[in-house]
Amino acid sequence: MKRIFLINAILFIVINSVNAQQNSKPKDSEIWSPVPKIVSFQNTPDDAIILFNGGNLDQWISVKDKSAAKWIVKDNTFTVNKGTGNIETKQSFTNYQLHIEWLIPSYITGSGQARGNSGLFLASTGKGDNGYELQLLDSYNNRTYSNGQAGSIYKQAIPLVNASKKPGEWQTYDVIWNAPVFNENGSLKSAARVTALHNGILIQNNVELKGETAFIGTPTYKNHGPSPIKLQDHGDPSEPISFRNIWIRNL
Ligand code: MG
Repeated sequence: MKRIFLINAILFIVINSVNAQQNSKPKDSEIWSPVPKIVSFQNTPDDAIILFNGGNLDQWISVKDKSAAKWIVKDNTFTVNKGTGNIETKQSFTNYQLHIEWLIPSYITGSGQARGNSGLFLASTGKGDNGYELQLLDSYNNRTYSNGQAGSIYKQAIPLVNASKKPGEWQTYDVIWNAPVFNENGSLKSAARVTALHNGILIQNNVELKGETAFIGTPTYKNHGPSPIKLQDHGDPSEPISFRNIWIRNL
């Protein structure tokens, strides 16, 4: 008897849900608001903030003393000016989509971490290398620790693949950054998440970060708000790298 009751109950539920499906119309599940804003793409999306398009470094300052950025602008690109230190954007950002193009020179020298090392700090949280570093390095034919090669979140997340091009060829990073959120008392509410493509290939897939990049030890979070984007003047003696066509969209 119990079994018959159970079968009847299941039949009742199935028939009712089928009836509900039959009574609803396609338009019942259509949502018309909000309407996505129209954004077109010429050289950049037309709602992007241009951080560099060839002219000057007006959007950038030196990290150490907030003076004008001293990296070298030439032929619609700019190049690390070794010894002048990291540079960062004047503007601060929270969640964003970023595009940046970078070049390891064809005549690069050195090996391991000393071969075209720079870095894209997805949020600069202080002087020096404070923040969350997406590594820039020649990893075309240059073995180093996997969580320190191009496309790694330095010492934290190994890229899914090695999408590196040869030195002398321009490369791209496209990054979607969801900033960490902190509670009023400064404790972490939700971790940062990053998705990144290297030369159009997915290398970091919605990765949850454990904290800011640490050269020694483990990553940890410290409370911060909207932050600049930072580029690294690495101390290694290999030839410096160049950048062009940088834009960002607030999300
Ligand atoms: Mg670096």
